[in-house]
Amino acid sequence: MSHTQPYRTHSCNELRASHAGQTVQLAGWVHSRRDHGGVYFFDLRDRNGLVQVVVRPQEKEAFDIAANLGAEHVLSVTGVVGKRPAGSENPNLPTGAIEVSAQRIDVLNASKPLPFEVGEHAHASEEVRLKYRFLDLRRTRMLGNLTVRHKAAQSVRRYLDMNRFIEIETPLLTKSTPEGARDFLVPSRLSPGEFYALPQSPQIFKQILMVSGVERYFQIARNFRDEDLRSDRQPEHTQIDLEMSFVNEANVHALVEGMMQTMFREVMGVELNLPFPSLEYDEVMLRFGSDKPDMRYGLEIQDASSLFKGSGFKVFGEAVSSGGAVRVLHAPDAALSRAEIDKLVDLVKSLGAKGLAWIKWIEKEGKLHPESPVAKFLSAGEMSALIELCKAKAGDVTFFGAGKTGDVANHLGALRKELIVKLGLKPDEAAPWRFLWVKHFPLLEWDAEGKRWTFTHNPFTAPLAEEASKLDTDPGNIKSHQYDLVLNGVELGSGSIRNHRPDMQRRILKLMGYDEAEQNRRFGLLLNALEYGAPPHGGIGIGFDRLIALLRGEDSIREVIAFPKTQKGTDPLSECPAPVDPKQLRELHLKVDLPAPPKA
Ligand code: ASP
Repeated sequence: MSHTQPYRTHSCNELRASHAGQTVQLAGWVHSRRDHGGVYFFDLRDRNGLVQVVVRPQEKEAFDIAANLGAEHVLSVTGVVGKRPAGSENPNLPTGAIEVSAQRIDVLNASKPLPFEVGEHAHASEEVRLKYRFLDLRRTRMLGNLTVRHKAAQSVRRYLDMNRFIEIETPLLTKSTPEGARDFLVPSRLSPGEFYALPQSPQIFKQILMVSGVERYFQIARNFRDEDLRSDRQPEHTQIDLEMSFVNEANVHALVEGMMQTMFREVMGVELNLPFPSLEYDEVMLRFGSDKPDMRYGLEIQDASSLFKGSGFKVFGEAVSSGGAVRVLHAPDAALSRAEIDKLVDLVKSLGAKGLAWIKWIEKEGKLHPESPVAKFLSAGEMSALIELCKAKAGDVTFFGAGKTGDVANHLGALRKELIVKLGLKPDEAAPWRFLWVKHFPLLEWDAEGKRWTFTHNPFTAPLAEEASKLDTDPGNIKSHQYDLVLNGVELGSGSIRNHRPDMQRRILKLMGYDEAEQNRRFGLLLNALEYGAPPHGGIGIGFDRLIALLRGEDSIREVIAFPKTQKGTDPLSECPAPVDPKQLRELHLKVDLPAPPKA
């Protein structure tokens, strides 16, 4: 640094035994203060860490100031570094071998009494933490979260820049974008009665940039989705958004894998193995009953349909003959009690299953014996085939799902998740970061409410070329170029190869029930651009908040966003949303005409 700083010569985390004897100046916040028989001790904290300051009565002026220090006062302290007396070192603190003996203390600013301790164990309510977010963010953990977020963003930028991507900002004031959520609207003053929408994603603009010949675009983009915030969602969230021209799925995946590998190396010091495993959607649903399985655990679902084809046990036999499936989830050494099994049955019933057949394998008279309400319905042949399929032994429990394939997958998938927790299965420590590509999602799904086909992820996804012939005959069974990136059971990102040919895009929109006028009204912006030489292209959007939360072991993305909203979508710090001046409303040609609130 070319200029000496007015307040400090060192950071609070910098001093070691080798600095003993040096006069130093430090600046930071009073973290905690202790009074030890006529000597004051306090920890001074800055962004980097803590250092212990000792104030002795000989330094009269400093001593008097130390007597009245409050938590979180801001100080500049000048003093001499000394080794701590033998036995009083703190091996848990990088500066634990030394203390700074204060000669001078300048109080740069005081703090009001605190609404909560800025210690590591703040148990304040979320509302209070967010109202005083400036204090909450002083915590080491929170500053660490923001730092890792910053480092990850820089790493991603460097990597994409090296790979010839161009960072381009797309508009925030735009038209409704189709990601399937509700829009946030912004009224227009200059066009009375008309509205902008905040983007749910840069999707249309990034595709237009491909038509423009940009070839490789990225943006660390803010997306706005007005959803109910029950789960861990935020009305605004950040995505690493990218799009590439003249590529196939494998190209996009390789690029993203390189980006993750680089970022994990630079930010976490972790070396990821490439390529990430990549599984077909159908296979993932069969083996794990979920399109975002946590691959750190085994416990796979197996298909037993062929085994129970024509079974005398009607529930199984009919499931197979009507085109559905019988699948088993076998839990080795599960040792579940009857009451525990009943709870699992209830869980699956709550998801709409009629029941959940199970077999508890025990040893009886020296032989493997199936203890189960359904055992008597199964033939000896079925039983021995089942034992072979599951490699069943005493102490294991086998669960069955029978019925429509999709339902069976959902029910056994939920059961698998619950069993992982219930059985206390330990993740594979040798590979703590388990990425997975899930590819070839169905293009369309039936929307029972709207009575029409709708997109599963993104209306612009291309069908696999060999599946396009099903567009007229079997739209529900078309596999697409839609892929998800999953990390440890969390859906991190979603993307696809797009329809670059306008005829194909229109055909798919038509299947979704949009006639030409409606297509033009909703998607005209993109459809029009596709008419002018759009190259083949595809991309992905990766949830940046969720990624950082995973890296930091945080359960909620709110912990890795500097100024998040509460579950009710409010910000207690800035007190928004908030009413506005009647004048502002008039200018916007708006009238707020709400019914009177119900009397309390
Ligand atoms: N626009 C998609 C999303 O926000 C991502 C993508 O398909 O690239 O989920």
